[in-house]
Amino acid sequence: MNSGHTIIGGGPAGLTAALVLARAGAKVRVLERRAAVGARFRGDFQGLENWTQRTDALDRLAYLGVEPDFAHLAVHEVTFYDARLRPTIARSRRPLFYMICRGDLEASLDRSLLRQARAAGVRVRLGERAEEAPRKAIIATGPRRIDGLARGYVFSTDLPDQVRAMVSDEVAPGGYAYLLVWGGRATLAACAFRRDETPRVSREAAADAFRRLIPGLELEDARPFAGCGSVMSPTRFRDADGRLYIGEAAGLQDPEWGFGLWYAIESGALAARCLLESRDYAAEARRAFDAYRSAAFFNRLLFEVAPRSLIGQTIRHVGGASDARERFRRHCAPASGKVQLARACAWVLHRRQDVPAILGGRGSITGASPGALYKAASPPGLPSRRTARDTPAATAEEPTHQATIEGIRSC
Ligand SMILES: Cc1cc2nc3c(=O)[nH]c(=O)nc-3n(C[C@H](O)[C@H](O)[C@H](O)COP(=O)(O)OP(=O)(O)OC[C@H]3O[C@@H](n4cnc5c(N)ncnc54)[C@H](O)[C@@H]3O)c2cc1C
Repeated sequence: MNSGHTIIGGGPAGLTAALVLARAGAKVRVLERRAAVGARFRGDFQGLENWTQRTDALDRLAYLGVEPDFAHLAVHEVTFYDARLRPTIARSRRPLFYMICRGDLEASLDRSLLRQARAAGVRVRLGERAEEAPRKAIIATGPRRIDGLARGYVFSTDLPDQVRAMVSDEVAPGGYAYLLVWGGRATLAACAFRRDETPRVSREAAADAFRRLIPGLELEDARPFAGCGSVMSPTRFRDADGRLYIGEAAGLQDPEWGFGLWYAIESGALAARCLLESRDYAAEARRAFDAYRSAAFFNRLLFEVAPRSLIGQTIRHVGGASDARERFRRHCAPASGKVQLARACAWVLHRRQDVPAILGGRGSITGASPGALYKAASPPGLPSRRTARDTPAATAEEPTHQATIEGIRSC
């Protein structure tokens, strides 16, 4: 047995890494600064997407060694609304995603990962904030830069189980709004992935829009929540002291819609396996994730520049297929043409004065690899790497965007 691994952060990335390491016989401790796992969430529902890969999400979890003993609901149908609130129903024989619950609840993903990690022998120290990260630690501290924000309500309802999502700048500028109903509980939220739009993210606007679509919609016992993410961060998988970065701490998020769970779980498992087998995690992570992030980045670029009517058509095209899951998969697939086009778009936009915020202003990106493209695309004013004295404690949820932080505080 080695001298032991330290993992900082007890989210899905950190706990998955811990689980994989411990099952292989390694000694592992996880430091989680909050008193409970998942405490940055409030019992809200999230989606474990099931469309980017052909293999089903539950089989992928099993392959990684994660038992899906958390509550999950297979979702086969989603109603999408365009900017004019016209509906398109996306259906699929195989689940489009699995609805799961986040937070400190018995049936949540977070508690399930905690149980499994502890059962494998991991020492999880809750309420222990890491002020220093030891050399060779695994850093899993979640979003380090904030460019995405969600605000919503968790509430009770007598609506039947359902999922609705709307892509409307009026309701959720630069993002989307969603309603997830399951077993008499519901999550309704608006989110934005443009830093300049985050102050305008309004849960009330989202609630009003869904009330217009669902007459009689009542938000009983509504509890507000808010959450942030680093959706357009540059990635970094390793530092000079041998620390490995996983999940959102590595800058891994889906730049198109903010589906970060798979990036967290898979990067955690990958880092653990690389440590166990003395493989180069940074190189493997780039191979595993860069192409997908590039494709998602390209899709987001299109979303930013395309006329809203075209976005409506895309929703109808992707959602209206007889097998929506397969259409989603193709939409997200890292086709090499998309990567090339993303580079070209970034280059052209960079040469114009009105560079969109998501491209992060000036900085040469000509000839960039997908990984370098993300570095070039880091939001303006944010360092592309941590300084030597930065500790995870100092950089996790760093208030780099004051308006966003104030938005969160005002919840
Ligand atoms: C409102 C909202 C809705 C979302 N919906 C979806 C969805 O539907 N589908 C999807 O795929 N993704 C979704 N995401 C994204 C997803 O939740 C994240 O990408 C995922 O949780 C990232 O996991 P992580 O382990 O990297 O980080 P986190 O889940 O943030 O975990 C990091 C942990 O590290 C701890 N920590 C931080 N600093 C320290 C320190 N110094 N010492 C000790 N501990 C520390 C934190 O307390 C935290 O528990 C959503 C995000 C938000 C905010």
